[in-house]
Amino acid sequence: MNIHEYQAKQLLAKFGVPVSRGIPCTTADEVGKAFVALNEPLAVVKAQIHAGGRGKAGGVKLVRSADEAIAVAKDLIGKTLVTHQTGPEGRVVRTLYVEAGSDIDREMYLAVLMDRAAAAPVVIAAAEGGVDIEELAETKPEAIARHRVHPVKGLMPFQARALCKHLGLSGDQAKQGGKLIGALVKAFMASDCSLAEINPLITTKQGEVKALDAKMGFDDNALFRHKDIVELRDLNEEDPKEVEAKKFDLSYIALTGDIGCLVNGAGLAMATMDVVQQKGGMPANFLDVGGGATAEQVTNAFKILLSDENVKGILVNIFGGIMRCDTIAEGVITAAKEVNLSVPLVVRLEGTNVEQGRKMLEESGIDLHTASSLDEAAEKVVAAVR
Ligand code: GDP
Ligand code: MG
Repeated sequence: MNIHEYQAKQLLAKFGVPVSRGIPCTTADEVGKAFVALNEPLAVVKAQIHAGGRGKAGGVKLVRSADEAIAVAKDLIGKTLVTHQTGPEGRVVRTLYVEAGSDIDREMYLAVLMDRAAAAPVVIAAAEGGVDIEELAETKPEAIARHRVHPVKGLMPFQARALCKHLGLSGDQAKQGGKLIGALVKAFMASDCSLAEINPLITTKQGEVKALDAKMGFDDNALFRHKDIVELRDLNEEDPKEVEAKKFDLSYIALTGDIGCLVNGAGLAMATMDVVQQKGGMPANFLDVGGGATAEQVTNAFKILLSDENVKGILVNIFGGIMRCDTIAEGVITAAKEVNLSVPLVVRLEGTNVEQGRKMLEESGIDLHTASSLDEAAEKVVAAVR
């Protein structure tokens, strides 16, 4: 799960990361009032979407009067912002963050993320920030410092000092930087983050060190112990099909192809996607109904697949172990009757109660193709969508 910049800044501030004062707004009127309330000669109006690259796309504007702030807000609210991180479809701007403007001296990069290879969080820092870190990693890898965080002891003072040195901070700024890095690591650990990124981390002409941007992502499996963070969730930023799937405890991930796959078990789902691609097709999704799905879950899974206009054919591949084939058949039949089945459907069932399941499908009168092996099923569905 991800959150907006202003939410991340509010959360980080609680842990002691210095950020500018700011006010989230949803109307141009509120933005004008926020400018007045901040009472600064310079403010920044920032589009709140779950993607970076807003600056380059016109989603971050410096303003010097309430009128200017209102004009910027009128332009941004409701606009679809396309950045290099949103994909071509972009994201609709619904919230703006109005922040006291900073007098930037230098822009740096600082992040904590989970490093699978190190099996621990790692702090990443670069003295050149505000730019695409991916590009810097490729062209100048030595410009990026990495320090592994001990999972129990946390970040050691010597590591914080080394990171500050790498960032080019000295004297009082190194002190501020050390505290900030420590606070960021604490926030990361305490909130079960997968990512906490500050890009840019800045020094101001007045000598402060602070977070000018903030991006945080959380481990979904740990959200049950962070009710306060779950409340920050913005469903507008998520794929509606994935949101719907979560409601029914289905593992669904949208992909770019045109073959909807309904499978039980993650391993079988992956094998199914491989075989579909081997036969020249492209899966539209990864959908695992789980080991013990109910007919209702299968029905909902089916509806989610059919609501995707990219889906030109559906492949149901079920191995009935704990899950019984007649349950799957019941779900398929119910869903096909409730939703107008407008695309070819290929079903391959195997395992517990398979005879009963096949019989139910045959007698249902639904127009579908059956297959007895995964190869055959994949071939049939690929041929059907062509
Ligand atoms: P992103 O483009 O989505 O990563 O948005 P950022 O929050 O990182 O802002 C992009 C850029 O806008 C920053 O790198 C700064 O150069 C500029 N910017 C943001 N806030 C301020 C500010 O308070 N003062 C000044 N002068 N520039 C700012
Ligand atoms: Mg940024």
